[in-house]
Amino acid sequence: MKIIFDDIFLNSDYALDPAAEKGRLDSILKMIKDNLNDYEIIKPESAKEEDILRAHTKKHLNYYKKNPLLYKLASFSVGGVIKAAEEAFNNNPSFAVIRPPGHHASSDSCWGFCYFNNIAIALLKLFFEKKIKSAFILDFDFHFGDGTVTILKKEKKFRTKILNPNSNDKDMYLFEIKEYLNKLDNIDIIAVSAGFDLGIEDWGGLLFPKDYNKIGKLLKKFSNKISNGRRFAVLEGGYNPEVLGVNFNSFCQGFK
Ligand SMILES: [Zn+2]
Repeated sequence: MKIIFDDIFLNSDYALDPAAEKGRLDSILKMIKDNLNDYEIIKPESAKEEDILRAHTKKHLNYYKKNPLLYKLASFSVGGVIKAAEEAFNNNPSFAVIRPPGHHASSDSCWGFCYFNNIAIALLKLFFEKKIKSAFILDFDFHFGDGTVTILKKEKKFRTKILNPNSNDKDMYLFEIKEYLNKLDNIDIIAVSAGFDLGIEDWGGLLFPKDYNKIGKLLKKFSNKISNGRRFAVLEGGYNPEVLGVNFNSFCQGFK
């Protein structure tokens, strides 16, 4: 499986928030290095302004441009997710290990440690390049991915379905995902906003590593059935650095 990563994402000076926490990605990197038979690291390029402007207003972009380090990292983060989406489009399942995250970024505003909506920008790029006409997005972060919904629903011709499961029982949570996938028709790509903050030892305290593995497996199975195997995932939340790597690896071992 392709892992999109660059050392640039280890820079923790761009913001003072839990997503930017120093050392937050270390346990993910350790997992990748301990399982190099399963993972191949690919470096991303920075996204172009025109990519970001498919989802955001010029005013929003210009506002964050005034902070050069933040702008640089946020643009690289978008670029990482674009790379993950392109790999997935070419039938290589991928995971973008990036930060800052993006699912709380709307066209002209943002919150929740997000600045540019990585996943929406990447999907819109594939859509405007006429590579895809439809997408399913599963957002299993602890928090509702409001930005992704508001941005993608504006693009009427782009057929998108977005699931933010909200059961607070773990078995029901998995059932909710399965039921939704069962009802999906053919779609061009599956994209995952993979926040691990609903983990049993993270903020939400619900999902065990084996549950993330089950979600990964389900997505792989359905992706082979309905999206020709095209699937990618993107890091969103997940704030306990001790367990972030284990949850990430459990998901990927099912998803790959
Ligand atoms: Zn979250």
